Amino acid sequence: MKDRMYELIDILNDADYNYYTLDNPTITDQEYDKYMRELIEIEEEHPEWIEVDSPTHKVGGKIIDSFQKVNHKIPMMSLSDVFSESEVLAFGKRIEKENIHPKYVCELKIDGLSVSLLYEKGKLVRAATRGDGVTGEDITHNAKTIKTIPLKLKEPVDIEVRGEIFMNKATLEELNEVRRQNNEPLLQNCRNAAAGSIRQLDSKVAAKRKLDVFMYHLPNPLDYGLHTHQEALDYIKKLGFKTNPNNRLVNSIEEALEFIEEKASTRDSLPYDIDGIVIKVNDISQQQQLGFTAKYPRWATAYKFPAVEVLTRLNDIIFTVGRTGQITPNAVLDPVIVAGSTISRATLHNEDYVKEKDLKIGDIVSIRKAGDVIPEVVEAKKERRTGKEKDFEMISTCPMCNTLLVKREGQVDYFCPNENCPARNVEQLIHFVSRNAMNIDGIGDRIMEDFYNFGFIRSVIDIYYLKEHKKELIRLEGYGEKSVSNLLDAIEESKKNSLERLIFALGIKHVGEKTAKILAAKFKELEALAEASTEELVLIPDIGEVIAEAVYNYFHDEGNLKVIKELKELGINFTYLGQEVKIDEDFSSKTFVLTGALEFYTRDEASLLIENLGGKTSDSVSKKTSVVIVGKNPGSKYEKAKALGIEIWTEEEFKNKVDK
Ligand code: NAD
Repeated sequence: MKDRMYELIDILNDADYNYYTLDNPTITDQEYDKYMRELIEIEEEHPEWIEVDSPTHKVGGKIIDSFQKVNHKIPMMSLSDVFSESEVLAFGKRIEKENIHPKYVCELKIDGLSVSLLYEKGKLVRAATRGDGVTGEDITHNAKTIKTIPLKLKEPVDIEVRGEIFMNKATLEELNEVRRQNNEPLLQNCRNAAAGSIRQLDSKVAAKRKLDVFMYHLPNPLDYGLHTHQEALDYIKKLGFKTNPNNRLVNSIEEALEFIEEKASTRDSLPYDIDGIVIKVNDISQQQQLGFTAKYPRWATAYKFPAVEVLTRLNDIIFTVGRTGQITPNAVLDPVIVAGSTISRATLHNEDYVKEKDLKIGDIVSIRKAGDVIPEVVEAKKERRTGKEKDFEMISTCPMCNTLLVKREGQVDYFCPNENCPARNVEQLIHFVSRNAMNIDGIGDRIMEDFYNFGFIRSVIDIYYLKEHKKELIRLEGYGEKSVSNLLDAIEESKKNSLERLIFALGIKHVGEKTAKILAAKFKELEALAEASTEELVLIPDIGEVIAEAVYNYFHDEGNLKVIKELKELGINFTYLGQEVKIDEDFSSKTFVLTGALEFYTRDEASLLIENLGGKTSDSVSKKTSVVIVGKNPGSKYEKAKALGIEIWTEEEFKNKVDK
């Protein structure tokens, strides 16, 4: 782990140099934040390893010698960052723990670079970058070219004010258009374009770049008799500075969350880039009580918007086989968070798709969540290729059974034509967990295919060992800790099912749900059913020779017996828990139809009760129907029953008759 720590320090130091000193980042902000988080986690686990100059403890990057150096009397700090609603709430909780119940000022986090402006007797005397927080670069000559930086204030005060220099999106477009025409490299984004422009030695260049500014911080408000951040903002506005009209004073951290939500949805319509929302404690005495860490104030934090498109490495392309034999290439990715969930895999659909995108194994690719659900590989970042990437090759034989793949005429997909291909076992597994069988909620068809292909589940036994893959499951896309826990709970819960569900789930030929129920009610224990002879089986009403033989054969197959033995050892219930069929005059030999929404039972439960009391159920109303049971908002069945003069029970009446 220590090696990883040094590796992360190197990566982050390199990134800082490219970003802050050269204004030419080589990795995305999301990648940077991900590495930074990893380093913070290692340092939290091993505080004894922390290096004094760790990137977690320093602000900004190295400054260029060609600029004059400037010392900041009050250091220019960074901001702690948070990435989710719950982290915003945790920030608020930490403050409340100190017995402080603040109002907050919420501000747009402008994606530019910070600047300190110094005025003497109301006249601009110096503008400086943040630099490493203590020493910055003198950029007065360039700052003077920005029209919104006042050269003279409305009052002759001595004051230092801080804010953000930025470039509008439209300006970046215009500049890049000219660069495109001149075959010059394009400016990557507004932030780097602004930083690169302000750190030009020749102020004519900066002047052409149409930079702008928002001022948001007065480092020493008490010196001006101001006791809140909001008052400070109002004051600097009065002096002639441009402040952001979106700033809002809110009463609680919950209201700050509302501000975040509102601004996240309108962010694209702003003329400039923002990368988050800054939340600041309003009251200066509360700010002082909370204080600072080495790198940032404890009284403020920056909520960063989740990226909708992020970069990651394509580590491999693996092939999966669907239930129909369809072969799909899948991207295996370095796990990344996209729009709030971890993505480690994305479908690449088919050979043509991969070739069209010219993906190579080892590429840095951008990932986006299409329709906010399915992760999609957008493109390969070809400029980041090292030459070590491997070409994609489509397979020609099935990865499961080695059969030669076929391509149907006019189709892009390859198929495994082998009817007995083990991939098709997936169907049996899907049946086993389905609602009317073991009823394990949370494993749909697609997920079962994935689990099969990943090797997590290859037989019904494996379903009950899925808990051993908990960590891997949490890392899979679409799964959070909570949904994995719910799924594992549902699997455990299914162990208690009554026998008829298990008999149906086993997938014995010709044994449907109804037959499973008859067999379970008759034999009560799975072992008893397993020992039944065909003669015994055919004696049961509704069981013919074909079913009897299929049941007998199933329980005389060594493979099946092994599975049953293991299921028993795993603690799956083998006993029939349903009530014995008792003949009740209200139900016996009658046919019932259910309609409308039931309040006390599910449809399945109500049907089971009717059958256990000697009745039958049917889906449609006819002259043969004895009783229609009516729930809320009944449909046309109710109307038909009335028209045919069929007896009608409310759910209440049904319940009373069942309970009597
Ligand atoms: P930061 O950008 O996360 O937050 C602090 C900065 O926010 C302030 O210094 C200020 O300039 C700015 N800001 C904008 N609006 C503000 C407002 N209303 N109030 C207060 N401040 C406001 O922190 P940072 O230390 O400047 O930079 C770190 C971030 O920069 C990283 O999280 C990463 O996203 C990015 N970065 C990227 C790379 C890369 O290689 N891509 C390298 C280094 C840093």
